Amino acid sequence: MPETQVGIVGAGPAGLMLGELLAAADVETVILEDRSRDYVESRVRAGVLEHGTVERMDALGLGSRMHRDGLVHHGIYLQFNGERHHIDFGEHTGGKSIMVYGQQEVVKDLVAARLAGQRDLNFEAKVSRITDFNGPLGEGMPTVHYSVSGLDKELNCQIVVGADGYHGVSRQMVSPGSMRTYSREYPYAWLGILAEVEPSTDELIYAFHDRGFAMHSLRSPSVSRLYLQVDPTDSIDAWSDERIWEELQVRLHAGGWSLKEGPVLEKGITPMRSFVTEPMRFGRLFLAGDAAHIVPPTGAKGLNLAVTDVVVLAAALIDYFRSGDQRGLDQYSDSCLKRIWQAQNFSTMMTTLLHLDGTDDQFGRRLQRARQQQVVNSRSAAKTLSENYVGLPLAEPNR
Ligand SMILES: Cc1cc2nc3c(=O)[nH]c(=O)nc-3n(C[C@H](O)[C@H](O)[C@H](O)COP(=O)(O)OP(=O)(O)OC[C@H]3O[C@@H](n4cnc5c(N)ncnc54)[C@H](O)[C@@H]3O)c2cc1C
Repeated sequence: MPETQVGIVGAGPAGLMLGELLAAADVETVILEDRSRDYVESRVRAGVLEHGTVERMDALGLGSRMHRDGLVHHGIYLQFNGERHHIDFGEHTGGKSIMVYGQQEVVKDLVAARLAGQRDLNFEAKVSRITDFNGPLGEGMPTVHYSVSGLDKELNCQIVVGADGYHGVSRQMVSPGSMRTYSREYPYAWLGILAEVEPSTDELIYAFHDRGFAMHSLRSPSVSRLYLQVDPTDSIDAWSDERIWEELQVRLHAGGWSLKEGPVLEKGITPMRSFVTEPMRFGRLFLAGDAAHIVPPTGAKGLNLAVTDVVVLAAALIDYFRSGDQRGLDQYSDSCLKRIWQAQNFSTMMTTLLHLDGTDDQFGRRLQRARQQQVVNSRSAAKTLSENYVGLPLAEPNR
């Protein structure tokens, strides 16, 4: 049976980035990905890279396309019923910025690097089970069971990393008694479109409107990404392109500004949920990224959290394989969870600040209005928002 040091389930940003970080330290990995290369390279999802994520891409020598095609943003616009305000990240964070660069572009860069290094990356390899992962490191080997073109295969590894997203198989392998999960459902969803039209804004617009939240994001000088708050039970078939543009025009309207329209390239509805698994390690199985936690997209944290998990995990795995030092691996969960809960807090704050909760709670609406005024009128509130948006400092394991 083939064998490797680290078996990675999933070639999303978490799995691929982990593979690159470990390859740079000569730790052997095999990545198994259910979908085709084409599919993972064209899956449109997140698009905001924190300051630290940009630095990681650069450190791996993967920044050239990102710096060429990505858009550096120094702030965001918050809009409340037609009144637009600018939050300047540079002013509040000592000059930090974010990069607008599609997740699928990050994935393309990581796939290209892995293939150029001739490292093991298996597409259309669906993992069905992981066995023998309980127990101490170094005593026994987990086995990853997967299939390719209907043929059952197995991979032995010293450590398995489940980076297979929220719907993946890795978390399901853990007995319910060994973990606790915390979750929150929101009474709204996001309808997202990708449109072939020059962005009507230089930086992201987050708009609260009496008809619901709307957002104008960007992907490139000729492609825009826009979102509308919709009911989670809504069907995309009920939203013609015309209806979407009409609603965006109303919710994003601001005096002296106009929204350009163009052909809709892609559209879909995504439910909004917060979810955390504790711990993130089960013997020789480690969970990373969406496999362990998800956030509502309002804070632009999902992809960035996936990257920071694997940065912490890679440092710990490198110590372990170089010298047998297990302390980083022992602290992996605690170290990541501190940051994850900070991100949950920020994402929940942004979400509840900007969405209609669908109830008739007028007291709640006035509190929401007070929080909206505070964030644009108080320097300390704007600073807190900016620090969280560009990304909190990476918490390394306490060694
Ligand atoms: C529709 C959508 C829109 C989003 N929009 C935003 C946004 O605007 N902003 C933001 O910050 N975040 C957004 N997110 C969240 C962000 O995209 C995720 O946080 C990020 O993808 C996490 O990366 P990951 O590598 O942990 O997981 P994923 O990207 O989910 O990667 C997991 C990989 O594992 C593979 N896999 C699953 N099961 C198996 C199996 N059994 N065997 C082998 N492989 C398997 C999957 O095919 C996938 O390639 C969005 C998420 C979704 C679903």
